[in-house]
Amino acid sequence: MIDIRTFMLVLGIGNIGFALLMAGYARGAASHPAMRIWAGARLVQGAAHLVGWLQPELAWSALVATGNALLMIGTALELAAYCVFLALPRWAVALLPFTALALLALYGAQALRLDAVQGMVLMSMALGLFSLAMAWLLLRPGAHGSVLQRLIGVNNLVFAVAMAVRAWHGLGHTHASLLSAAGAHHATFIAGYILMIVNGFGFLLLCKEKDDARMVQLATIDSLTGLINRHAFFDRTDSARMLARRQCSPIALMMIDIDHFKRINDCFGHATGDEALVLFAATAGTALRDHDIMGRLGGEEFALVLPATDLEGAILAAERLRMTVAAAPLPTSAGAYAMTISVGVVVIDAHEHINAALARADHALYAAKTGGRNRVSVGVGQLKVVCG
Ligand code: GH3
Ligand code: MG
Ligand code: MG
Repeated sequence: MIDIRTFMLVLGIGNIGFALLMAGYARGAASHPAMRIWAGARLVQGAAHLVGWLQPELAWSALVATGNALLMIGTALELAAYCVFLALPRWAVALLPFTALALLALYGAQALRLDAVQGMVLMSMALGLFSLAMAWLLLRPGAHGSVLQRLIGVNNLVFAVAMAVRAWHGLGHTHASLLSAAGAHHATFIAGYILMIVNGFGFLLLCKEKDDARMVQLATIDSLTGLINRHAFFDRTDSARMLARRQCSPIALMMIDIDHFKRINDCFGHATGDEALVLFAATAGTALRDHDIMGRLGGEEFALVLPATDLEGAILAAERLRMTVAAAPLPTSAGAYAMTISVGVVVIDAHEHINAALARADHALYAAKTGGRNRVSVGVGQLKVVCG
């Protein structure tokens, strides 16, 4: 069967290896803060297993409690890493007392001179509960985790079950179980080994997955208004244009500019100007359909793409937007200010480059401005919907 001491050595070196890898990665990259805690957890758990490996050699009884305490602290750190990763509030309030209680029980058991099997039951129950908590955090219905997150959650659940089986055997329920006591002991180490490999790599990938998503968000979203930025708007508009061409459906484009925006900045301050931009984005959001694409091109200029919309529909939508914005007062130091917008509308030609369509919409916007502002103007250029 399995040589448990060799297993302990493998778990010790393996965990410390993971800790070093993660510490190296965390130094070189703008990594998630949870990764540092995770690396610490692996280091402490690795040390615990090495202590377990050394124990028969040194035959020093204090080592057993030290190894167990390290394993407990390492597992608590692992749970803390998940809490930080999932941005849970006030997680320490629950975790610290539970860890303290588990350590107290561990040292209490030693003081009461409980035998090795009873100590093992205690450890199995504590580690099983930690693992169950991790599985719950990752798999709970509100977590909306990725496939990777769920895989790690299932892995934690398997370990919790292995710990429960181990405790069950320790309590003397050997007849009712499928495995022998030694079999359960071995199964625990195998589960621990799988946990180390899968979760070791898994957590690294999980942090990377989250960091990547954040990078994409930073690269595509305007931080002030929450709308997509110019670059992302061009990308999404191009995809919408291709789809419209395949489906042979019209697609409209608007250029929107806030009227006398400089005046808002000059009269009420730059912060109120920023608030005006946020208010515009939020107000426009209420007037749009789910699949409309709105982006901030820069300053107080915005663009809007309306798939499956012809010129008539686009003019109606632009008027609705103009009136909604005018009816949403901006709070300023001098009372409510009625912000207005000017809009240029065109229908995109199926084969037209987005820059050319934007230039036509901008031309229409200019006409709306020179025509007196707070109005919608339609661009020139005829619609030639060529499908396929
Ligand atoms: P018009 O009616 O012709 O559009 O006049 P306007 O004053 O709105 O246009 P103009 O282009 O002269 O002014 C735009 C101003 O928007 C100038 C710039 O300082 C300001 N601005 C650009 N980006 C921001 C921003 O992020 N926040 C704030 N508060 N102001 C901005
Ligand atoms: Mg303006
Ligand atoms: Mg402008």
